[in-house]
Amino acid sequence: MSTQTFGGLEHRPLGNTGLKVSSVGFGASPLGNVFGNVSEEAAFAAVRHAFRLGINFFDTSPYYGGTLSEKVLGKALKALGVPRDQYIVSTKCGRYKEGFDFSAERVTRSIDESLERLQLDYVDILHCHDIEFGSLDQIVNETLPALLKLKETGKIRFIGITGLPLQIFTYVLDRVPPGTVDVILSYCHYSINDSTLEDLLPYLKSKGVGVISASPLAMGLLTEIGPPEWHPASPEIKAACQAAAAFCKEKGKNISKIALQYSLSNKDISTILVGMISVGQVEENVAAATEIAIFGKDEETISAVSNILKPVKNQTWPSGIQQS
Ligand code: NAD
Repeated sequence: MSTQTFGGLEHRPLGNTGLKVSSVGFGASPLGNVFGNVSEEAAFAAVRHAFRLGINFFDTSPYYGGTLSEKVLGKALKALGVPRDQYIVSTKCGRYKEGFDFSAERVTRSIDESLERLQLDYVDILHCHDIEFGSLDQIVNETLPALLKLKETGKIRFIGITGLPLQIFTYVLDRVPPGTVDVILSYCHYSINDSTLEDLLPYLKSKGVGVISASPLAMGLLTEIGPPEWHPASPEIKAACQAAAAFCKEKGKNISKIALQYSLSNKDISTILVGMISVGQVEENVAAATEIAIFGKDEETISAVSNILKPVKNQTWPSGIQQS
């Protein structure tokens, strides 16, 4: 299946799902106020504008803002007033404000709760959320079989797994029958400061798994205003990203645009999920994508920023529990 263009924004095939997702996807965690307060009006306007500009993929989770993100996204999508098959929605299970629970019973209940909050009959993708915090063997032996049953009910169309350490993906994919996991969602590993996901792409392709990469702005590190207080990166990473942002500003460039263009350039990644809180951010991010098609990406600035970030390149932070 080939890539198509909608108003300048590419829609790329997502693994073997048959879905075509916009190269820029709408990350809805900020609608749960995790990067600061966002009014419902601003959230609705951002979602509406995103859809108008060709963004057709929206990602949320019950965890974001303790269910707030799902509720706000659901209302905003309903307000679009367009047929359900015009947009693709993913949500997650297993991670909640109260903690992690990947049991079959909890994830089966979870989808009904999510559908109610989202005001939808089905989601396109249900991800197991941040599986490194659970037992990976439980994901293989209990959670994914429960999700396969949900697929049969029509409440979910496809199954995904998400998390930070890249080894979780190979651990699970090597232990389940082909076609069990349709997509993976990796975050903070295909940004200008950390591109370690690249090495895993041939493996994921060989497994027929669609690739979603999130957090091209490294959860706020690659923005002019910098990351939120809870950001887990080391002081060295934070300082290097701050220096890169200052460099761009001095040159009349925007670090976020440079970072997003870097992430968008690999077509083996179907979609880059960016968290957005306003019409302005939607416009900037879609423009960053469409300008690549016209002018190419800003190689000179990307190269200068990569140089500044070299001392911390591919550095990450710990996430999850010790697997036995
Ligand atoms: P991100 O790197 O997309 O950064 C989001 C931050 O950047 C927000 O503060 C946003 O307001 C700001 N921003 C966006 N566009 C901007 C622009 N043009 N200029 C300046 N600032 C801009 O990080 P994220 O939101 O954590 O990741 C994107 C999405 O991916 C999430 O919303 C979520 O849907 C998904 N995600 C999933 C997981 C997981 O499943 N474990 C982890 C991380 C992210």
